Amino acid sequence: MDNGRAWEKLKAEMKAAAESLGIDKIGVASADPFTAMKQRLVRHRELGHESGFEEPDLDKRTEPSLLFDNPQSIIAIAIAYPSKLQDAPKSISGERRGILSRSAWGKDYHAVLRNRLTRLEEWLRERVPDFRAESMVDTGALVDRAVAERAGIGWSAKNCSIITPEWGSWVYLGEMITNLPLPPDKPVTEGCGDCTACIDACPTGALVGPGQLDAQRCISFITQTKGTVSDEMMRKIGNRLYGCDTCQVVCPENKGKNWTHQPELQPDPEKVKPLLIPLLSMGNRSFKEMYGDSSSAWRGRKPIQRNAVIGLGNFKDPSGIPALTEVLKKDPRFELRATAAWSLGRIGGEEAAAVLKDAAGREEDARVLEAIEKALHSEAVLGKKAKPQA
Ligand code: SF4
Ligand code: SF4
Repeated sequence: MDNGRAWEKLKAEMKAAAESLGIDKIGVASADPFTAMKQRLVRHRELGHESGFEEPDLDKRTEPSLLFDNPQSIIAIAIAYPSKLQDAPKSISGERRGILSRSAWGKDYHAVLRNRLTRLEEWLRERVPDFRAESMVDTGALVDRAVAERAGIGWSAKNCSIITPEWGSWVYLGEMITNLPLPPDKPVTEGCGDCTACIDACPTGALVGPGQLDAQRCISFITQTKGTVSDEMMRKIGNRLYGCDTCQVVCPENKGKNWTHQPELQPDPEKVKPLLIPLLSMGNRSFKEMYGDSSSAWRGRKPIQRNAVIGLGNFKDPSGIPALTEVLKKDPRFELRATAAWSLGRIGGEEAAAVLKDAAGREEDARVLEAIEKALHSEAVLGKKAKPQA
């Protein structure tokens, strides 16, 4: 196959086959370096806005020829996922629940995208015998969103997602670098216009400008860390156990968009909106059984358990006190004990104050003792204690 028309035809056939391969949108980008993106990434790093989870080598992130011998094109794919939970269990007093980000509903998207990319590779190999490709999903060096934008999958939005005209931003992105000189698609012409709904709605001000994210202030990133979290951010995390969807939920481009056709991506309501208290005592084995096939498990159980502790504090529901007491007394991880102290301080009242005082007499870790001390001086503890005297 050596002429442009033949490659055009193959591309058209590939797009026509997309649905049968389980792919919702396919686009083709040139394999030229992402020069403008590199400048943005350098600036992002200088400002300290990186999450720390990125590939550190900026050349690898922006130069396809460093990842693949003689690249000729990059094929970008998108798979749409659900945004609405059917039969969502209610979070009620005494039975408080947390929530996972929509991107972690259903089976781990890495596995699902990889499956689709493998099917696409097989489809192409049947038609082009000397076909070569390197597929990547999120963990690859290239910036998925930059590839998707260039390949005409969607526009690069102010909330830092890719918005597709068809599916909104509820899409997972993957790509493969190939040796096929497929003609590139044109970027989409739509854009965010004057809208600033996502920037206005972000609870932490993490969207520091249109399309500019300070990951250090983004709840989505913070819920994936393993250490302790600042008081300000714990309050803003609310009951989020993994990720944050606020800047996508408020986006008018996502209004009414909920995709239920990919069977592996459909959520189990009890899993994605779980009861918080049982999470606190979950061992490694039960965690793996429950979340092993979810993308939320990639950092292990600690971040999710810490966030469950934070959620109980933010609900300010005294029914959480016994479970938090157990964590504060017995959990071997100082991050969990310190966070439990914070949550007890947030719930407040005499019962929580008594638990904190008791722990202050037994705790040996200075970091936890400091958290207990702060909790004992929190408004909720002091305020409730002060009441009888008033
Ligand atoms: S994910 Fe949440 S915290 Fe991060 S930018 Fe969006 S709204 Fe803000
Ligand atoms: S909320 Fe508005 S500005 Fe933000 S991504 Fe959606 S359309 Fe763009």
